[in-house]
Amino acid sequence: MSSRIKVSYWEAVNLSDREPVRESLRESLREVMPFDVVIVGAGPAGLSTACKLAQLCQDHETSLDICVIEKGSEIGAHILSGAVLEASALDELFPDWHNMQAPVKVPVTDDEVHLLTSSASSIKLPSFLVPPALHNSGNYVISLGNLCRWLGEQAESLGVQLFTGFTAAEILYNDDDQVIGIATGDMGRDKNGNEKGNFEEGYELHARYTVFAEGCRGHLGKELIEKYDLDKGKAPQHYGIGIKELWEVPAEAHSPGKVFHGVGWPLGLGKTTGGSFLYHLENNEVSVGLITDLNYSNPWLSPFDEFQRLKQHPAIRSVLSGGKRLSYGARALVKGGIQSLPNLVFPGGLLAGDNAGFLNFLKLKGSHTAMKSGMLAAESIYAALMGGGAEIANDNGVLESYQDNINTSSIARELYAARNVGPAMHKFGTLLGSAFAFIDQVIFRGKLPFTLKDMVPDHAALKRAEDCPRISYPAPDNEISFDKLSSVYISNTNHEEDQPCHLKLIDAETPTGFNLAEYDEPAQRYCPAGVYEIVRSDTKTRFQINAQNCVHCKTCDIKDPTQNIVWTAPEGGGGPNYPNM
Ligand SMILES: Cc1cc2nc3c(=O)[nH]c(=O)nc-3n(C[C@H](O)[C@H](O)[C@H](O)COP(=O)(O)OP(=O)(O)OC[C@H]3O[C@@H](n4cnc5c(N)ncnc54)[C@H](O)[C@@H]3O)c2cc1C
Ligand code: SF4
Repeated sequence: MSSRIKVSYWEAVNLSDREPVRESLRESLREVMPFDVVIVGAGPAGLSTACKLAQLCQDHETSLDICVIEKGSEIGAHILSGAVLEASALDELFPDWHNMQAPVKVPVTDDEVHLLTSSASSIKLPSFLVPPALHNSGNYVISLGNLCRWLGEQAESLGVQLFTGFTAAEILYNDDDQVIGIATGDMGRDKNGNEKGNFEEGYELHARYTVFAEGCRGHLGKELIEKYDLDKGKAPQHYGIGIKELWEVPAEAHSPGKVFHGVGWPLGLGKTTGGSFLYHLENNEVSVGLITDLNYSNPWLSPFDEFQRLKQHPAIRSVLSGGKRLSYGARALVKGGIQSLPNLVFPGGLLAGDNAGFLNFLKLKGSHTAMKSGMLAAESIYAALMGGGAEIANDNGVLESYQDNINTSSIARELYAARNVGPAMHKFGTLLGSAFAFIDQVIFRGKLPFTLKDMVPDHAALKRAEDCPRISYPAPDNEISFDKLSSVYISNTNHEEDQPCHLKLIDAETPTGFNLAEYDEPAQRYCPAGVYEIVRSDTKTRFQINAQNCVHCKTCDIKDPTQNIVWTAPEGGGGPNYPNM
């Protein structure tokens, strides 16, 4: 998807040259807003980039035009995480955060890992058997959505412009294939693409550097990785789908700061891997979730229904019983580790946070690495814009110093130490993989002299439906377990219905013509929002897409076995409206 505009060679790194595009050469009629730096995505990565850049300007009494563009209706609306926060990056970005009303108030008080051996039994693992990276002493139980809201306030007070409810829908390139910004999506097109009465054309946000911080499986990040071949020579990226609910539970079941992690039930101890969590926040709230690794092979598996089964385990049910479900949501997470990290820089821009893949799967934490990567990005961009020279960015606007700084950072060190655990789980399954993790992490401290890789992309891991056992899931009891539609309802998901479908099929016949026979069309089950349905009548079998229910988790884009489904951006502001997820 290339822009229609033409610009001459962009001589980037000079503060006196604020206007990156020569107006005389533009052919597009879209309105243009020039910035020094455009940041796509107001998650921890994007907001930390913005705050750090603005702080550097303040420290040096300079100024830069910085904007952050966010597709959620407000900051935090599309943020879904656990979350236990390792505060290292926050300490660095705002050393005084304790006195700044940051929503980081619940220190971890109790930290347990359980092996869920069956639907009714579990064993609490002694602390010495748990890899040190999974210990949570010194961390905080938070709502990442609320932390992002707070980071947004800090960014705004530092002079950053925040545009919420706008999607970065298109990457703008010049004739030399340098990124020169993004275009927001049009608003007010009907489902056939025609302009409605309220039509508004998208804007072009031009920038001297564009930071892509869209989170896991960013749709622009995907385009950039492909265009610039950023993943050449890397292992395929791997993913999980995290399904989460927020509950208010009876006071006697609540223990602020308690962190529970589970492995085993309901996914079992074999090759279908993942893990569960139950975190006690403040105000009698707990967040409960299940992560199912997306390399699973049985197309009958439904991550949503596995999550419903998880909640029936006595270890979880005992906390939720008598409580009230407040919110529901789902989000893919990136877990390939350092083996799968693409190159991070290209002419005119860079990848930060989970759009690159900095989540530490062993720790199940990516917020601190996302923030740190944003801060390192800001330092490199600031130095380049202030005329830092060829050691910062080459003539083509490639910020080589960002790549170098990441390679020698705490992020690279922790991802390197954790690198073998994910592939070992994929190769050996949960039980043997956990034994390997113990040896790798507790005995060798992540220093084994080899690196395992899983070279099979997640979408290619599915087996034929007829070769796999069917899984029958119990009906929801509507107390602890629920169906998809009532769940999506409390994610407050909303899309304008009369707009072009944002879930594109490369070939419209593949779902019914191939996937159905081969895999019983797995989209019916892997989508946690009931977006995809096979509808049968006497004369026809068709694939229905209920795009208005989409919670933007990106699982279909990842797991569709023929990579036939492409997630694109709906109108800005559409999607879930998560409260404190
Ligand atoms: C279930 C689950 C549990 C987790 N638990 C933990 C935990 O306990 N601790 C921890 O540290 N980490 C945890 N993580 C990981 C953590 O949430 C991520 O690593 C972190 O959120 C990554 O931050 P990010 O800024 O890169 O991306 P995100 O947080 O995903 O933010 C990206 C933002 O960009 C916006 N966006 C995307 N595309 C566009 C576009 N084209 N235009 C405009 N806006 C766009 C999105 O709406 C979103 O607001 C968990 C993740 C999941 C899914
Ligand atoms: S349609 Fe795709 S992105 Fe949307 S909720 Fe379903 S799986 Fe997730």
